[in-house]
Amino acid sequence: MKIINPATGNIIEEISEDTIKTLADKLNLLKTGQQSWKVKTVEERLDKIEKFGEIIQGDVEELALILSTETGKPIQQARNEIKGAHNRIDHLMLNAPKWLAHEKVIQEGNTLESIEYEPLGVIANISAWNYPYNVGYNVFLYALTAGNGVLYKPSEYSSLTGKAITKRLYQAGIPENIFQCSIGGREVGQLILEMDFDGYFFTGSYSTGKYIAREVAHKLVPVQLELGGKDPLYVMEDVPDIKKAAINAAEGSFYNAGQSCCAIERIYVSEKIYESFLQYFIEEVSTYRLGDPTDENTFIGPLTRPQQLTALSDQVKDAQSKGASIALGGHPLKNSGNYFEPTIVVNTNHSMKIMKDESFGPIIGIQKVSSDEEAIELMLDTDYGLTSAVFGSDEERVDIILKAMNSGTVYWNCCDRVSPNIPWSGRKNSGLGSTLSTQGIRAFVQPKSYQMRP
Ligand code: NAD
Repeated sequence: MKIINPATGNIIEEISEDTIKTLADKLNLLKTGQQSWKVKTVEERLDKIEKFGEIIQGDVEELALILSTETGKPIQQARNEIKGAHNRIDHLMLNAPKWLAHEKVIQEGNTLESIEYEPLGVIANISAWNYPYNVGYNVFLYALTAGNGVLYKPSEYSSLTGKAITKRLYQAGIPENIFQCSIGGREVGQLILEMDFDGYFFTGSYSTGKYIAREVAHKLVPVQLELGGKDPLYVMEDVPDIKKAAINAAEGSFYNAGQSCCAIERIYVSEKIYESFLQYFIEEVSTYRLGDPTDENTFIGPLTRPQQLTALSDQVKDAQSKGASIALGGHPLKNSGNYFEPTIVVNTNHSMKIMKDESFGPIIGIQKVSSDEEAIELMLDTDYGLTSAVFGSDEERVDIILKAMNSGTVYWNCCDRVSPNIPWSGRKNSGLGSTLSTQGIRAFVQPKSYQMRP
């Protein structure tokens, strides 16, 4: 498999893909290894995960360069991701022993009722490229902590990062018969679906997620899906500082070139501040430096996948043909590499793809609204349900809107952020199940109820 640098189109490296035989060997190895991993204490497992975290932090520069070169993520953002993902490890260290402890529920007469949280067994983690540390840790570190063996398939667009993570897990003392990495794209993913895993944990697009859920349904094993979004932001007229709101909204829309599952994908602005907000927003986005992702000053790198250039151009053309105008950008760059100009589309409406389909790129639609009711109606007009954000001052008004949202996460005066303390989950086409928090670890265990009469 050729690993292509999205900034140049050059081949970085050629690596071997897994085959049905290598995958079967890996699964057999994991099935044996998991028997000894599951009987270790949570603290023993966490010791190794803590060591892994230290090794990763020591290697940040080397790992950030790998991530930046193979996905096009600007180097500063690559560093931020790797350093930031460490909060999952801190959170696990602090909480996992109590989350996984044998839970005494009640003693009634001479009957003691309690719960043991047993691991699922050997799980498959089919993952995405846009935040391989964050979304990877959310699954494989929690699964390992709970006593499972893991077959981890990084995306074909972040395979070198997947291999680098695997090497460091081994260095930290995670046995090879507990964690295996598989290399390849859709075909390798398909083979994994056909094998005998005890759970499927997927991060990626809605279409692949739906396919996976259908393919493995007959196995009756847990399936978890972290999928895409079309996340709305509503900017009310009473934001304390319109310029600051515009700067925050721009960052939420364009960070990682908009390739974040919880990026702001559409913005509704009160008509009372629309012109002023738009002016600040355009000013801010105009300062974003687009270029070589390994350059310290770059804010927008190339898109990871070349095919997304066509998808974004299509959204722009579709919007223009239905009456929208382009306030900034609008085109792919003509030089080599998968570059698309930071693009702001205005006068949008919900007949346009840019307001309905996931864009996953440096492009945003902005629409004027005249009331909270109109904003709520438009925010809810989506097939997705990952996050929804409101910027404003009046807590009561904000609260009504956040309660009305049908999404896994709601934000007030912030956006595009994930915390290990609370569940991360999508509704509707954004997914099934939760990662992070106590709920995130429960995804990797099965309860065994004890009814004991000593
Ligand atoms: P994708 O669906 O194209 O690929 C995801 C993974 O699935 C890859 O490893 C790929 O090789 C594998 N795959 C593809 N076809 C398969 C098949 N038929 N059988 C088995 N495996 C298969 O998604 P992507 O482009 O890697 O990721 C981008 C998407 O992920 C966006 O929609 C984004 O919003 C979403 N995402 C969601 C979250 C979240 O937490 N909700 C986080 C990150 C990304």
